[in-house]
Amino acid sequence: MTAIGNSPASRDKAFVLHPYTNLKAHETQGPMIIDRGQGVRVYDDSGKEYIEGLASLWCVSLGWGQERLVEAAARQMRKLATYHTFTHKSHEPMIDLAEALLKLAPVPMSKVFFANSGSEANDTVIKIIWYYNNALGRPEKKKILSRLKAYHGVTVATASLTGLPNNHRDFDLPIARIQHLDCPHHYRFAEPGETEEQFATRLAENLEAHILAEGPDTVAAMFAEPIMGAGGVIIPPETYFAKIQPILKKYDVLLIADEVICGFGRTGNFWGSETVGMQPDILTCAKQLSSGYLPISAVMVNEKVYQAMVAESEKIGIFGHGFTYSAHPVAAAVALETLKIYEDMDMLNHVRSVSPRFLERLTALGDHPLIGEARGIGLIGAVELVADKETKTPFEPAGMAGAKVNALGHEQGVITRAMGDRIAFCPPLVIGTDDIDEMFDRFTRALDAAIPVLKP
Ligand code: PMP
Repeated sequence: MTAIGNSPASRDKAFVLHPYTNLKAHETQGPMIIDRGQGVRVYDDSGKEYIEGLASLWCVSLGWGQERLVEAAARQMRKLATYHTFTHKSHEPMIDLAEALLKLAPVPMSKVFFANSGSEANDTVIKIIWYYNNALGRPEKKKILSRLKAYHGVTVATASLTGLPNNHRDFDLPIARIQHLDCPHHYRFAEPGETEEQFATRLAENLEAHILAEGPDTVAAMFAEPIMGAGGVIIPPETYFAKIQPILKKYDVLLIADEVICGFGRTGNFWGSETVGMQPDILTCAKQLSSGYLPISAVMVNEKVYQAMVAESEKIGIFGHGFTYSAHPVAAAVALETLKIYEDMDMLNHVRSVSPRFLERLTALGDHPLIGEARGIGLIGAVELVADKETKTPFEPAGMAGAKVNALGHEQGVITRAMGDRIAFCPPLVIGTDDIDEMFDRFTRALDAAIPVLKP
């Protein structure tokens, strides 16, 4: 047996199984250890400073070092560190948070269920959809529609909803009754000469044809992120949801808005649903709900869904679902304080005031020789690396260019996320224009450094 070194990096390699990591590469490459954070910056264990261009994983809206959240957690820890919410038990942080979320909801919602992650929230929704249709005496109406490049989580059922090959391949997924439809990305999937409007019409027609082919009595729901995040920050055509929602209504198919990334101001409105004109029956949120400080997620259901669930639970005696930490009081208290900070700082106004600078710098990257498309909205965006701008031909092998540019960004002091050959930007919402400029200056230097490597 080889001796394990004493450094954190060698102990990481010896002891940790990393999520979303090339495990073999990790054995040689080792970890990047992040030691502390302040504002929109994080520092690694050598003291090197980075602008966090992805707000950790799309979540640290308020940046690092928010004392009010630290205090809220400590206060709640001292008062009631933990308690469950099964079998009629409750506590005020949960009640207050549910009330606050219902007030903020983009469309009238009836009740809030709490979980600990985006995956758990969406997994809960899948079960609610099936429970709802059983309640209504429609045991066949169970198929759930998602979209290619969607991201809805990693549990067995939510990884099935996710429309990305890495989440299915070798995991024996997707499970039955989950189906993937068109990705609404005009740049990649429009026919030659097709306008955004025509593209949206075609996707809506495909949706209707799909429901009819499957049988409307078998199709229960459709999940959609308002703006698709991990699939590459994909902004649908302006009329996309206006065209698909009447079809869903016509065949009594529920619409679920996955607001795990888009919720809480990210797209320039409080909810992504408002930005894209979605009127969901069920909404899930997480991440920026607590500024990522503690794990918590929420599911909001409308009155129609709730009434069916009540009737079913009366009939069978229980809604038999919940997590030990559903509405953990400390996480709920931190989420509540996060919502108060959003209000106190007029977060939405701040996002709207800095977004034009963010979008100006982002879209300017579209002129760079390595970039085929630069797209964004609010304070979220991505650039797509291509080998040939004219033909949109990707680099080979897929993902190599994205990983390279991302690594060069780290060298320049900016942390972004490579999703294949798309690089995402989703900085803390509190970022100011000077740091937006600094972030893009650093990233541009990384891109320039990539030219001789990718186009020798
Ligand atoms: N839905 C969306 C839109 C997400 O972006 C994510 C995570 N990036 C999830 C669900 C899953 O959330 P979690 O990683 O907290 O399970």
